[in-house]
Amino acid sequence: MTAKHSAFAEVNTYVRRVAKRLQIPDAYLNIMLNPYRELRVQVMIHRDDGSIFETFGYRIQHNAARGPYKGGIRYHPDVNEDEVRALASLMTWKNALVDIPFGGAKGGITVDPRQLSPRELQDLTRSFTRKIDMALGPYRDVPAPDVNTNAEVMGWIMDEYGRRHGHTPAVVTGKPLALGGSKGRQAATGRGVSLVTQWAANDNGIDVPGARIVLQGFGNVGTYAAEFLMQAGAKIIAVSDVDGAIYAKDGLDIPALLAWVREHRTVKGFPGAEPIDGAKLLTIPCDILIPAAMGGVITMANAAQIQTKLLIEGANHPVTPDAAAALEQRGIPIIPDILANAGGVTVSYFEWTQNLQQFFWSEAEVNQRLGERLETAYRTMSETVVESQCTYREAAYLIALRRVWEAMQLRGI
Ligand code: NAD
Repeated sequence: MTAKHSAFAEVNTYVRRVAKRLQIPDAYLNIMLNPYRELRVQVMIHRDDGSIFETFGYRIQHNAARGPYKGGIRYHPDVNEDEVRALASLMTWKNALVDIPFGGAKGGITVDPRQLSPRELQDLTRSFTRKIDMALGPYRDVPAPDVNTNAEVMGWIMDEYGRRHGHTPAVVTGKPLALGGSKGRQAATGRGVSLVTQWAANDNGIDVPGARIVLQGFGNVGTYAAEFLMQAGAKIIAVSDVDGAIYAKDGLDIPALLAWVREHRTVKGFPGAEPIDGAKLLTIPCDILIPAAMGGVITMANAAQIQTKLLIEGANHPVTPDAAAALEQRGIPIIPDILANAGGVTVSYFEWTQNLQQFFWSEAEVNQRLGERLETAYRTMSETVVESQCTYREAAYLIALRRVWEAMQLRGI
């Protein structure tokens, strides 16, 4: 992999740029650039047909100056060290920006979970949990769901960890409600994307009622973002998933689409919409473009064709730094991932808090606190844009790096 295509190098271009502005000494900067600990473990299971399946899992802990490591676990064929490092680093800056007391981490297994039976998936999860067990703990490292993992997988992690350490619900977030999950967690990332989209649209002269939105990815983040934005009056005109993409110029019927996806597991074939090419979806003229699937989907290869007025990063690092600069030069504001999709980890923090207290909050309380925290972060970022004459992303990193640097200094590092 060349440095040009390294997601980790891309995240670090933002870190370096802002560190220079803040005049962070090299010794601190190097600690901020590099992960603290990287685990790469072999995981294997017996398949249902008796054969052995073997692959690698990762847990990378980036920085814990502000609290225990925190970040999701992804199951995907493209999971590799570089990508997990990038995602771990993003978690450090995201958690600092929304001011929650966690550091950053990420994990994953290189696997296509669609090829595994439910029993195989559970065994794989348990094998992985045992291998990284020594690095986990409610005050050490707290995983959560990410691409292709969900509440059920988090429940298995909690159970496997508990076999050695005793019942410890706070070791993982995004759990099922019956196992100590938080109300509002499942919808939290999409809810956050929707809130941030509405604030940013208002600040950039776009009326949300009637706004035409294009959305890539219709999983946990995309489905809830679509639902909440539709409720706010926006028209979701195009949606895609890994299997296909659909377009309806007057807006998709989101409740009907959700019912279709529950039954067919894909947006493909949804009646009342025309099928379109997945790659072309990103270039449809629209008011707001929300990539909410994978990283690195907007590059110099397609940046010139993007025709939106505002871009909201629902996914992690969906836009490469050179493409982001090209879009910003064309006057397209980009709300960075570390703010736009921070709703999930914010409610994960609430779940961890509730687990430690063994006292649960109502959904209304969770949602209210989520909105308040994200709004504070959004406003602080927007004020920094004006004060420091910089992009939204630079402002977000300025705030985050300042906070992490301060914590490192106060710890006496
Ligand atoms: P998910 O597994 O629930 O859904 C992913 C969606 O993306 C699916 O609809 C999948 O079909 C689609 N997809 C995958 N490859 C695609 C492609 N090439 N083209 C179009 N669609 C494609 O995952 P998720 O939890 O919704 O995560 C989506 C993104 O949001 C990821 O970048 C993730 O890191 C980020 N994120 C998730 C959370 C969370 O709480 N789940 C929090 C913060 C950030």
